[in-house]
Amino acid sequence: MLVVKEVTKSFDDLPVLNNIGFQIADNEIVALIGPSGCGKSTLLNIISGLEPLDIGKIEYSGDAISYVFQDDRLLQWRSVWDNIRIVNNTINENEISELICDVGLKGFEKYKPNQLSGGMKKRCGIARAFYYKSKLLIMDEPFQGLDYCLRQEMLKMLLRVWNRRKQSVLFITHEIDEALTVAGRIVVMSKRPGTILQEFNLKGIEDRSLSSLEINNIRQQIVSSLT
Ligand code: ADP
Ligand code: MG
Repeated sequence: MLVVKEVTKSFDDLPVLNNIGFQIADNEIVALIGPSGCGKSTLLNIISGLEPLDIGKIEYSGDAISYVFQDDRLLQWRSVWDNIRIVNNTINENEISELICDVGLKGFEKYKPNQLSGGMKKRCGIARAFYYKSKLLIMDEPFQGLDYCLRQEMLKMLLRVWNRRKQSVLFITHEIDEALTVAGRIVVMSKRPGTILQEFNLKGIEDRSLSSLEINNIRQQIVSSLT
């Protein structure tokens, strides 16, 4: 679905990405984890064609990409409903209602962004990204700045919506526990210039809590590769 091949990138004489390669299959959630400044956002800009690469290649079988950014980027003068509706030319009221319900915003359809809490804005941004039909959804540190409990709730909500709609997701984060909660696979990047250090397959691991031996083991491996 998405193949990132040997991507290398510098900004002037600052090397940022070095020989990055990984793949995302249909309906898979891949978490890309790496320290701040290692080139994660640069890589997603390259994947989406906003930034040219120096060496390498991106192969994507879809024609559009959806995003959830760190900041919510909602239209301030439009309601929750309209912020979601506007990204798609064909209006499917049932689908919008279902998404609003899935993300937990039922009853708030008419609210404007300035009447919503930070968590509610994120929910709206996620509903919007899923309503914008594409094969790939990229989330760039979407829950950064939220408190621990709210982040856990958001991750659960993301999995709930994804389970019903099954789309490929590239989830970018520097929080190991976020990756361990949602990912089918985890790709670990080094500090800048970012290279791929390791990949972990988590498919089939039902218990994602830290009390799970398997999860704890993967966590330890990620921590030691990053330190
Ligand atoms: P991350 O998202 O992993 O925190 P970024 O991709 O934002 O990292 O940044 C990686 C490095 O590339 C940083 O050192 C940053 O200063 C540099 N960088 C990012 N964008 C630009 C740009 N447009 N021009 C010059 N340097 C940039
Ligand atoms: Mg970033």
